[in-house]
Amino acid sequence: MANISLQHLDKIYDNKVQAVYDFNLEVKDGEFIVLVGPSGCGKSTTLRMIAGLEDITAGKLLLDGEDITATPPKDRDMAMVFQNYALYGHMTVYENMAFSLTLRKEDPNLIHQKVMAAAEILHLTDQLNKKPKQLSGGQRQRVAMGRAIVRNPKVFLFDEPLSNLDAKLRGATRREILLLHKRMKATMLYVTHDQTEALTLADRIVCMSMGHVQQIGTPLELYDTPANLFVASFIGLPPMNFFKVQVEENRVCHPLFSMQLTPEEQQLLKKYIGQEVTLGVRPENIAEGDEISMKVVSNENLGMSTLVHGYLGDVRTSDSSLTCKLRGWCDYRSGDVVKLSFEKRHFFDSQTTAAIR
Ligand code: ADP
Repeated sequence: MANISLQHLDKIYDNKVQAVYDFNLEVKDGEFIVLVGPSGCGKSTTLRMIAGLEDITAGKLLLDGEDITATPPKDRDMAMVFQNYALYGHMTVYENMAFSLTLRKEDPNLIHQKVMAAAEILHLTDQLNKKPKQLSGGQRQRVAMGRAIVRNPKVFLFDEPLSNLDAKLRGATRREILLLHKRMKATMLYVTHDQTEALTLADRIVCMSMGHVQQIGTPLELYDTPANLFVASFIGLPPMNFFKVQVEENRVCHPLFSMQLTPEEQQLLKKYIGQEVTLGVRPENIAEGDEISMKVVSNENLGMSTLVHGYLGDVRTSDSSLTCKLRGWCDYRSGDVVKLSFEKRHFFDSQTTAAIR
């Protein structure tokens, strides 16, 4: 069992930098939570407060109902895996994995059993006699995970564990972490700046910006119903396109286009008639159609789909640029004009940036 309750956590560093504001989250037993956001948004600070590596300035942290706000890290029964695996170079893989248990003077037979079991889960059985420098980056990261697994902690904390790996290894190791979670059914909190990792790993994502939680929800909730402009632009790749539009009774109007609203959208935007809102559309929700004309700048074939970048009207500006991800293989050339339709539209309050629901 490992429920974690984060209640109104604040972190202010000694230099008066407030890194985290009023962080609230109830982590369920066995849940995989991913904290995601750009560099400097307070993800690591939050994780380190949970681990006990940073003091909590204000708020409360509970583990299975017990207040651990001031408990030293070693008594929290949590294991942390870092970006730089920090393995001992002079020790073998086996010794690295056994180290924390040896230090605790556990029974050598028990240590052996635990190391062999972790090595099997992580496909490291054949590597146990090697030194870290004889391993690939992915294998070293697995050894770092092995060190955490042998301790059988209540909670696993991962701080950007894949960012030192190349793209292919990142994908493979990501899938291993997912399997590890399924197999161990442990509570895991995972920090990353990579929205793909968040979408593929998390049961629930916590999206942060500038020390503030922006939205907490399943990957699909954040992708499908982002709470505000920040989440809408951060989750999804390539990012959502945005346009400032004027709301009329049954249309929205931009200097370069005008679009008919569905009855549901008209209802949604009723109180904004005569005002400006921000229209968002994901590149994959744009298809060849008849609503707008885009002048093509570039065409990138991805195999199953084609990324087409361009702009509306005659001039390329931030409010006329558009990226679409069209199905199949397209061969547009620079200067071609392509007719498009927006299949799913999101609307945001231009003042508050909140999604209009
Ligand atoms: P992230 O993990 O999202 O990249 P961090 O939690 O590392 O962000 O940092 C959040 C903010 O706190 C940043 O502005 C960072 O500069 C600041 N910060 C982090 N660690 C310290 C520290 N030890 N002392 C002072 N400020 C810090």
